[in-house]
Parts: sequence; C-alpha cells; structure tokens
Amino acid sequence: MDGKAWFIHPVAVVNYFPVKTRLWYEPLENPQRTYYNFYGFENPKNGAFGIVRSRKDKVNPKNIIPWAHAGLDIFADINTPCYACLDGEIVQYKNEGDNGYGNVLVLVVKGDDLRASRNEYALEFAKNGEIEQAKDFDINAQHFYLRYCHLSDKRADLKVGDMVKSGDLIGYTGDTGNARGCLNPHLHFEIAMKQTGNRSNVYDTQTNRLGFKINPAFFVKLQKINKSIQEEIRDLRELRIRK
Ligand SMILES: [Zn+2]
Repeated sequence: MDGKAWFIHPVAVVNYFPVKTRLWYEPLENPQRTYYNFYGFENPKNGAFGIVRSRKDKVNPKNIIPWAHAGLDIFADINTPCYACLDGEIVQYKNEGDNGYGNVLVLVVKGDDLRASRNEYALEFAKNGEIEQAKDFDINAQHFYLRYCHLSDKRADLKVGDMVKSGDLIGYTGDTGNARGCLNPHLHFEIAMKQTGNRSNVYDTQTNRLGFKINPAFFVKLQKINKSIQEEIRDLRELRIRK
C-alpha cells in the first residue's frame, strides 16, 4: 500500500440512456377505442373484442342475436398513419372484400416479441361479452399475424416481402370494406395465429368468428377516450356522407 486512501465509490445504477424494454410500438398515435358505433350512437363496448354486439336475425327480425367483434376498433380519422407494432415481414396487402375488412395489411411477427409486449389491461366490458382470447388461441405460437383492416392505403413504397421495424410507417387508416361510410372511423386491428381464415369450427357461429385470435387490448395501450374529438369527427362525417 502506498498510504493513500482508496475509495471505491458505490456507483448508483442510473439509466443514462432510456433503455427500451418494450419492443411494442402502438399501431397509431394516442390509441383510444371507438366511443360511437358505425351509425354514430354512443356504444363504448362496440369496439371491444368478444361477443359485444347484437343484430336483428335475418330470418326472424324480431329476434336479436348476439354478434361477435373479432378485433379492436381504434378510433382514427381517415388517413391516420399506422405503424408496425413489432419487427416483422409484410406478408399481405390486399382487399379482403367490400363486405369484409376491405384493404388489409398483415404483418407477421415473432412469438417472443409479442409475448414480451403484453400490458396490464383488465377486461373493461367483461359483463357485455368482452373476452381475453378464443379458446383455440395459443400464446406460445412461433409467430403471430397483426392484421390492420379497413385501410385507405399502404405506404407507397412498401410491398409484400418487405421487412419492417417496430415503429415504421406502414399504411393509413380508412373506411374500406364494411366500414364504408361509418361515422366512427377506426382501425380494426387483430392479433391472430393465421394470416387469414382465423375461424374455429367447433362452437357456435359467432364464437367461431373470434377463432385463433387474442384481444388486442392486452397489447395496445389504450388511452382515455376523448369524446369531444370523436364526436367532432362523427358530426363532420355525418355532414359529408349523409347529406
Ligand atoms: Zn372492428
């Protein structure tokens, strides 16, 4: 020893740089569930995942039958930018039908990345039919398919086969398919085990429509609903569309 006192300073564990622990990037900015339904009526559960809707039976219109909603409706005025939630590959961009989801972009992602992105969501409409996942959904799958539905367009230079990073711009919301003319413009967002055809065949018709999917609210961190913004856009669309 040379007689000098040596001190070892305890070094506080400080995050000098923000450590990105979550790969997840929200599919659009400030995601909030739709507050209104297609026709502009107050119906906050309408955008949730599960058997949260009802319809008149086609055969016997006096009967009201339960109806499934197989995704999460995230409020977004037309042409709101959409982002890749995780790193992955674009495996589809096509129109799935005017009576269906319209223009659908599908991003396949790693199972581990999705599992690491789960949030603290608790079912908000459990009493009204919202559920966590279909019985045949397997959270331990190798890959998952993020389905962005009703888009107006994809990013112009993006094509099937392209790899994207979490946070990359991939497309723009719209009202294609059966959302055409809706007063609650939104991104219908799904997390599924297959690119398309996520349908069970073991339960009743409506439950089957939820097949192979999980409630996206367990990943999309939903913000508080801004009723006045949703109302303003509803009213503007009503003027434009229904005049
Ligand atoms: Zn929807």
